[in-house]
Amino acid sequence: MAYRMYDLIEMKKHNIPLNEDEIRWMVGEYTAGRIPDYQISAFLMAVWFQGLSDEETSFLTMAMAESGEMMDLSAIPGTKLDKHSSGGIGDKTTLILGPVMSALGIPTAKMSGRGLGFTGGTVDKLESIPGLRSEFSLDEFLQVVKDVGFVEASQTKNLAPADKLLYALRDVTATVDSIPLIASSIMSKKIAAGADRIVLDVKCGSGAFMQELSSAKQLAETMIRIGESVGRKTVAVISDMNQPLGRAVGNAIEVEEALEVLSGGGEERLRELVIRLAVEMLQLSDKAKATEEEAREEVIRVLTDGSAKERFFRYVERTGGNTDFQNSPSWKAAYQEPVYPKEAGYLYFCNASEVGLAAVILGAGRDKKEDVIDPAAGIRILKKLGDPVTPEEPIAILLTNKKDSIPAAKEKLLAAYSISQEKPEVRPVVEEVLGK
Ligand code: URA
Repeated sequence: MAYRMYDLIEMKKHNIPLNEDEIRWMVGEYTAGRIPDYQISAFLMAVWFQGLSDEETSFLTMAMAESGEMMDLSAIPGTKLDKHSSGGIGDKTTLILGPVMSALGIPTAKMSGRGLGFTGGTVDKLESIPGLRSEFSLDEFLQVVKDVGFVEASQTKNLAPADKLLYALRDVTATVDSIPLIASSIMSKKIAAGADRIVLDVKCGSGAFMQELSSAKQLAETMIRIGESVGRKTVAVISDMNQPLGRAVGNAIEVEEALEVLSGGGEERLRELVIRLAVEMLQLSDKAKATEEEAREEVIRVLTDGSAKERFFRYVERTGGNTDFQNSPSWKAAYQEPVYPKEAGYLYFCNASEVGLAAVILGAGRDKKEDVIDPAAGIRILKKLGDPVTPEEPIAILLTNKKDSIPAAKEKLLAAYSISQEKPEVRPVVEEVLGK
């Protein structure tokens, strides 16, 4: 049935619920280019103010998921798991979880994004390995999973195209930060990518869309309900994003840090989050252990006995990457600039998204889609929140090949942190796990 977009805007403006047919019509017509951006913009703003019911959110999610190709992962035996992060700074957990799950005998086939703005993207990080490919045909995508046990592919153009269009419009109409819109956007891509069960890492804090624990929980609960309503069991880990995760922000240095964790070590908070996400994935899988303790032991085993690390290198080789990547000239930044704090005290507060933007200035990310990333650029974090600092000791090292980017990046980084004589209370890295 055909509708008038004007009427649907009018309904949402007065908070009259839309039915499935109306939502499907709107998403289909917009994706086909038959509804102008200005009408959808008005609709999105009405949603921003009025919200969507759970039912409307599920209808929107499925309409976006089904606006393009729905991946058929039936060639991979067993329950298919996926993990998704709502986006943060220094988040390299996906690079570690694919190999960990593979070493545990649980295949994962994941579509990942590239970085835009202050957050990095898994595909960019992986592609800092010379030669490594992230774009595959469906046959090759499935074959890589069979050969290595996991795949981290760049999202195909035809996966949830309605979300791609709507997201671009939200980005320029100040309508990104709406819980039902974020929830349906994320879940539509997970569902289209073929996941049966989903583990979400919902970030909370100064480097996340959700700054408050209460709104992060609300987002997580909305996504869990969408998952349940369409038969995809979903668990959400709410994790702290009030400072970069781990000690590396960039691309090559994040791969290096992922390897530290895959070698049984790594920064404590990063390792803790990886273990928590891996345990949730294992317990949602066909190979769930009798207790969480047992699951944790299994995850720690594959991180320490070298089996997960071996899977990572197998993946690099299988996808055309140079396994001696750590010695590649493209991994060495020409300039390494230490950043000293102006006063002594404790690192008290961090605006994590500003740290992400400092890394973008150095060449580690994109302002615009067309920008080219420098794999060697980034920030080595030497001090974490709660650490004592003095003007004699650097808190970070800037890595770049663009000397003239250093002053602006340094200024941004210093402005991102505040120092106090009082020791802050540091949030735990895992705040809560919902949906179990
Ligand atoms: N990530 C997404 O995929 N969509 C959003 O709306 C926000 C974050």
